[in-house]
Order: sequence, then C-alpha cells, then structure tokens
Amino acid sequence: MSVKKVYMETFGCQMNVSDSERVATLLEAKGFQMTASEVGADVVLLNTCSVREKAEHKLYTRIGQIRKSSADNLTNSPDSKDSKRPVIGILGCVAQLEGETLFNRDQGINFVLGTKAVGRVSEAIDKVFDGQKNLVDLGEREFGYDWTVADSQRQFPFVAFVPIIEGCNKFCTYCIVPFSRGREKSLTASDIIRYVLKLRREGIREVHLIGQNVNSYRPLSDCGLEKFTGATAFSRLLRAVAVTGIERIKFTTSFPRDFHTDIVTAIDEYENLCNWVHLPVQSGSNAVLRAMRRGHTIESYLSRIDKIKASPRNISLTTDIIVGFPNETEQDFLETLKMVEYCQFTSAYIFKYSPRPGTPAFEMPDNVSAKEKSERFLELEKAVKNNQQKVFQSYLGKTFKLLVEKISNKNTTQLSGHTTCQTVVNFEGSSELLGKIVNVEILEAKANTLYGKIC
Ligand code: SAM
Ligand code: SF4
Repeated sequence: MSVKKVYMETFGCQMNVSDSERVATLLEAKGFQMTASEVGADVVLLNTCSVREKAEHKLYTRIGQIRKSSADNLTNSPDSKDSKRPVIGILGCVAQLEGETLFNRDQGINFVLGTKAVGRVSEAIDKVFDGQKNLVDLGEREFGYDWTVADSQRQFPFVAFVPIIEGCNKFCTYCIVPFSRGREKSLTASDIIRYVLKLRREGIREVHLIGQNVNSYRPLSDCGLEKFTGATAFSRLLRAVAVTGIERIKFTTSFPRDFHTDIVTAIDEYENLCNWVHLPVQSGSNAVLRAMRRGHTIESYLSRIDKIKASPRNISLTTDIIVGFPNETEQDFLETLKMVEYCQFTSAYIFKYSPRPGTPAFEMPDNVSAKEKSERFLELEKAVKNNQQKVFQSYLGKTFKLLVEKISNKNTTQLSGHTTCQTVVNFEGSSELLGKIVNVEILEAKANTLYGKIC
C-alpha cells in the first residue's frame, strides 16, 4: 500500500499553529507523509480560525480552490481516476462551531474535527478511506493526549511553542474563542517543566509559553511549583521554567486584568525570561472597554504599563486593538490614539470589529460604518508606525542578542531572527549561523524590521 500524502494549511493564532505541529507529528508517526503542496495530496487538512468573519470566509474560498485545482489536475492527468480527489478534513475553531452544518455549506468536505479532537486525526482519515461519510468528532481530548512535537514538524527549528493553558473563561462580548475553544484548562507545571527540559536537551533555544491568556494559568495541583515563590501560579511557573536553563523564554498572550506586576519582577530576576510583553488593550476608551466586558479600565491598564516601563530590562510592549466596536464614537477613538501615544508599543495588531454570531456584541448595532472603520484603522496604523519608528530609532547603534532563525525571505544573502524583545532583525551572514545566538549592531530601521551587522 502506498504512503498517503497529507497537505495541511493553518489559519489564525499560535494555538492553531501549535495544534498543526502536533497533528503533523501524529500523522507522520502513523505512517502518513506530510507534503508541502496540495497538488497530488491524498488528504488536505484545513486548520481553521473563526475570530473574524474574514478568516472564516477565507476557509470557504480555499475549499473551492482546492477542489478546482484537484479537478484540473485530474483532467490533465492521462490516468485520472476519481479516487485521486483528496479527502478534505476541516479542523479547529470553525469545525468546532459549525460541526456537521459544514457538510451542507460545502459538498467537498469529508470530515470535521473540533478543537479538542485533533489527536484523533489519523483515525478519522482511516475511517473516511474505509468509506465512512460525513464524519464529525467534536469530543473532548483523549486521556494522555501527547503534547510533544517532532523536530521535523516545527515551524521554526530552534523555537518551540509550549501550550500551558487552553480555552478561555473571559467571554469578552465580541469574542467567539470561549465557544470555539471551551473553558480554561491549565496543564500541570511538572509536565510543562519536563517538556521544556526535553526541548533544551534536543537543542531548542527559545520556548514560547502559549495560551489565549497565559497569565490566567491556574493548574489543579501545585505539582512542579513547590519550590517556587510568586504572587500568582503564572509568575511561579515563569520562575520554574527559567530555572530549567533554557536560553530564551517568551510568553503570549497576557490578559490585562490578570497581569500581576510580579510577572515584571520575575523578568527582572531571570535574564532568560525575555523582555517582551504582549498585552492586548483593545480600546483606549473606558466606555468601549465596559461594553466589551474586558474587565480592565484604561487607568488599570496604564498602571501595569507604567510598572512594565519601570523595569531596568527595557521591556518592549505589543498589543491588540479593535476599531469600530458598536457605538465607538470619534471621541472614544481619540482616546485610543492618546493611549497608543502614551504606551509607545513596538507594534500592534489592529482589527476592524467583526460581528460574530452567538456573541453578545452580535446583538448590538454594528453602527460604525465600514468607511469609518477603515479610516480609523488607517489612522491608528499610522500612529502605531510612528511610535514604532520612535522605539526603533532608539535602538540604532545598539547591540542586540539575536536568535538566527532562518534565511531572509526577501534576500537570500541575509539571515533573519528575533531579538529577545521580539523584533525582527535581518543581517548579512552565512547559513552556518542558523540556530546560533549572535550579537548584532542595529544600523537601520524600516517598517516592522531592523537591519544590522554581526559584531
Ligand atoms: N485572549 C487575548 C486577549 O484577551 O487579549 C486575545 C485572543 S483573540 C484570539 C486575538 C485578538 O483577536 C483579540 O485580542 C482581538 O483584538 C481580536 N478579536 C477577537 N474577536 C474579534 C472580533 N469579533 N472582531 C475583531 N477582532 C476580534
Ligand atoms: Fe477572546 Fe476575551 Fe478570551 Fe481573549 S480574553 S480569547 S478576547 S474572550
């Protein structure tokens, strides 16, 4: 029997990227072969995102394109057989939310696996090849789910994502995540630490502790944290992971209300806790924050920013902002601009509000016009870019430690990596440096990227 080829595409957040890495690991262990092209694939997996309507629409467009390209392929192939059409499986958030209704939306879909069922992907594929139609699995994770990822399946060979908490209990009024990813569930600290130690032994240089809200980490037991002090379970976990000696530790995303300043103290104590905090603010207006039910005010957010900025580690800040939330006035938007000016973010993900069926905000009037949303988006983008340039100008002539991750996409004589404060730097160098941590002096700043020379 020939080896079945699987092509997978991933949409959305780091949790999805991390899930896809494990799905690929699992499939290769079961004898499937992951392939980089949909052409000739026996199975196509789409790991989906439902956070915004646009992301969901992309999925339906992609299914259409895949069916068309496989049909073209069949027509052009002299020995075309219908059985060569790929099996299409939908994974992730859209799968979890839409379930079997996806089969009515698109006849080409063969199976649907929810966010916690991804560990059963090989069984699902086998069942479809055995003739099962319209397979749906939206069940819970199996006992003993294996969180490890094979080296060959990592997006970046020297950087590993380590999930520490799944799901979300916050129910911000605009957000679909608590419905697609379920309630918060923290992994045991001893398992996380054991995994980080294994990654370190295998040559991983940087880990990213990931979750929708990492700082809401609350494991059922103290196991693994006994020797570590801290104001919250998360700041204790940070110290415990730092003590493993892995070279660089980053964590994302942090939820402002649960951001205890002891996180900054931990960063000050351990150099391998990197000097970067991603703290999504969403808006600079208290009226909008209240309507979003974020649980923080702009004053409480800024007091955390002040504490972060007071750190001797020169911690860089990034954020997420939504423009055009229902009833957002020009005055509310001006407050967002003012807040951005104050915080001096190194970068920000800006989103136009997208109504998501099933969320409380979906019942509110989507009364900021598309034109106003676009104008606010562009104005905010400009403000964030200006701030970024101010931050970047202060880096010129300074030396940063860089993990060399890959050959630059745009210029193959250049290498590319991230600083500890999560800024991309490109510089001239040879591929022998891949995976090394090097010192780079910053010479030039462009949009989102710094350029430098090795020193
Ligand atoms: N848990 C993180 C937090 O609370 O900040 C964010 C996780 S969410 C998957 C990523 C980002 O998507 C959010 O910070 C928000 O800016 C954006 N987002 C979520 N729902 C949205 C919606 N309905 N419309 C536009 N942007 C949205
Ligand atoms: Fe969504 Fe809010 Fe949960 Fe973040 S905290 S995932 S924005 S509900």
